[in-house]
Parts: sequence; structure tokens; C-alpha cells
Amino acid sequence: MSTKKNPAIDLARPPCLPDASIDAALRILKSGYLFRYGETSDTTLSDAALLEQEFSTFIGSKYCVAVNSGGSALFLALKAAGVKSGEPVLLNAFTLAPVPGAIHHAGAEPVLVETNQDCIVDLADLERKAKEYPNARFLLLSYMRGLFPNMEHIHELCNQYSLTLIEDCAHTLGARWRTKPLGSFGKAACFSAQSFKHINAGEGGLLATNDEDLAAAAILMSGSYMLYGQHKARPSLEKFEALRFNTPNYSLRMSDLSAAILRPQLALVNNWKTQWQHIYTQVLAQLKHIPGVKFAQRFSDADYVPSSLQFSLPSYEVNEIERLLVLTSQQGIHLKWFGADNPKGFTSRPEHWSYMQNPTQIPQTEKILSRLFDLRLPLNFTDQECYFLGSVLKQAIIEAKA
Ligand SMILES: *Cc1c(COP(=O)(O)O)cnc(C)c1O
Repeated sequence: MSTKKNPAIDLARPPCLPDASIDAALRILKSGYLFRYGETSDTTLSDAALLEQEFSTFIGSKYCVAVNSGGSALFLALKAAGVKSGEPVLLNAFTLAPVPGAIHHAGAEPVLVETNQDCIVDLADLERKAKEYPNARFLLLSYMRGLFPNMEHIHELCNQYSLTLIEDCAHTLGARWRTKPLGSFGKAACFSAQSFKHINAGEGGLLATNDEDLAAAAILMSGSYMLYGQHKARPSLEKFEALRFNTPNYSLRMSDLSAAILRPQLALVNNWKTQWQHIYTQVLAQLKHIPGVKFAQRFSDADYVPSSLQFSLPSYEVNEIERLLVLTSQQGIHLKWFGADNPKGFTSRPEHWSYMQNPTQIPQTEKILSRLFDLRLPLNFTDQECYFLGSVLKQAIIEAKA
């Protein structure tokens, strides 16, 4: 099979770092102070502490903790919120592997909730699971690929069933439900700075919360030693007194180098959102009218950051899908399919997480994922590339069925 690589259409290319990030990285590298804490030196300029402060302002949270990955932030949020070993934690089944992984890491049991055809949590099944697991105290809601449900309905259900909401915002930095930012609905919200998300430090995670007990526990657990006073987006020092000798240090810190790279990017998030919306609209325009192609419905009054595009081909047989994948990859476009028996890249699904002790049956999600495709939209895509991508896909989708 020819896999001629067209570098102009590399969907996996990360956004370029702004010059200010490169300058900041050089400043840190030249100083040698890559660790966020100083024992005796003045650390009022710790980039990690400043990033936490700036991120809190951006999201509108009181507190923030920077860690080494989005998955670590999720683990920490669960632990600091008091998730106990063996307890059930509800989560929507269409998500990325680090999300059930974080629940497992925290010693709890993931309970999967069905996905609907719009790739978001099925609210009727959420209610069913809340009834079926009356001892579940937490809902870890993952806004997979930047898609999210009606947040007012989530709020009502969480109230009704006494569920504490923890938000996985890996793909919703900059997104809003009506006027309220995603990440401001739950007890804690977790963000990722991995290169394929909305800010890029290679690796990194941020946990935002308004809860001072959770914040103090998370700062201690993240690995702040007895230097937690150097945090800026933290609760008062008294909050740490009761916790500091009985809270484990899980060593999940973000380095000052990553923080320095991220800080200048926060100012660009809203421009990037506009750029992604433009790219998304252009690619979508070409795929919209192809017979048999279905798109997830989005809320008209929500503000998305569409860094990827999902579509499904409900009427396609597996052999037709395989043909489609060959046709697109011959043009250098690597389409992701959530239905492959042998998952590739970032497309594993619940049946591949067999470490789960009592996997919940999710036939509806399995059916949806078996015909679901995902296309990453690089931030620096030109109009020409959008057009090329759209036309190659369109042709391949039609040809694969013939
Ligand atoms: C990327 C991602 C994560 C985890 O982020 P890492 O920084 O890679 O650990 C969590 N949830 C979703 C939906 C993601 O896409």
C-alpha cells in the first residue's frame, strides 16, 4: 500500500509555540532554575506559581494547581475530593483512556454511562446509573473532543442524586456553555497541556477549583513538600495545617520550564478558538451534504473550541470503512476510527480497558463508536489545506461506498 506522506496535510502537527514561549524557555534554561520551588532563594517569580495565578484568573476559579499531565490532574482531583478505594465513580463512556485510568489510579471503580449519537453523555442513562449505584458520590464528566451536554441538566441531575461533579476539560479550554466557561461548573476542573490539546507544553495539567479544602489537599498531594507557601493561587496557610502531616506526596509537579512555556499561550487561547472555529466551519461545509454522513448536533448558544471534527457513517459496512481508511491514507490523511478491533493512536474504547473489574454494559455507545470517525484539525491549517482535506474526504467517503 502506498503511504506517500504529504507533509502539508499532517493532521498531527502541533501548534507552533509563540516567540514569547521560546524566550521564556531560554530564560529558564539559562538560569538553571527548572524546579518550581526554591528552598532559600526568592521564588516570587516561580513561573509555575504565576501560571496558576494567571490560569485561575482566566477560568474564574479561586485556586489552581499545576501538575505534570491532564491525567495527573484528574487523579489528584479525585483523591483530593476524597474518593475512596473501591467506590464507584460515574463517567461517560466516550472518553480517552487516561480518564478511566485516573479513576483506577485513585483506587476507585469506573462505572460507564452511555453516550448518545451526539457523542455526549446520555442523560437518561446517567439517571439510570445514578439510581443503580446509589452509593456513587462522584460524576467525572469528560468533554471528549470538546463536546459537552446541556450543563443546566447536568447541574439538576447532580443535585437530585447528590453527585459531585468533576470536569475533564482537556478539550474545552476557552469553551463556554452560554456565558459560563466550561471548568466552572464542578467542584474541580482538570485541563491538559499535552501538545494535542489547546495549550502546548508537551506535557502538563492544571486543576482549578473554588474549594479550599480540595485545593489545599491537591497542592500537598501534588508534591509541594513544606514549600506550599510559595503557591500564589492557594488557600490561606491555616488550611494546610490540619493536612500537612497526613497527606501523601504523589510527586506530580509541573516544572517551571513547562509553566514558562505555557504562560504566554493563555493570552492566545481566545484567538486560537476563533481560528479553530474558522477551520472547522470550512471543512464541515464540504462534508455536510454527502449522503450518509452524520454529524453530532451542537448547541447553538454554546461556544466550542472545535480542534477536531467527528462524523459517523451509520450505513457503512466494515469493509467499506476499511476501504475508506485506505483511500484517505493514500492521500496522506490519517482518519481515526473508533470502531477498529485493534485500536490505533488515541482511539481505544471501553472494551479495550479490560482492567475494569465489573465493566458496565454499554451497547448503545459501542454501536455509535463502531461507525464514528475523528479528524484532528491543526491550528495552523490554511484555507487551501481545509479545502484539500474536505475534498479528499468527500471523494473517499463516496468512493468507499460504491
Ligand atoms: C488528553 C486528554 C486527557 C488527559 O490528558 P493528558 O495530559 O494526556 O494526561 C483527558 N481527557 C481527555 C478527553 C483528553 O483528550
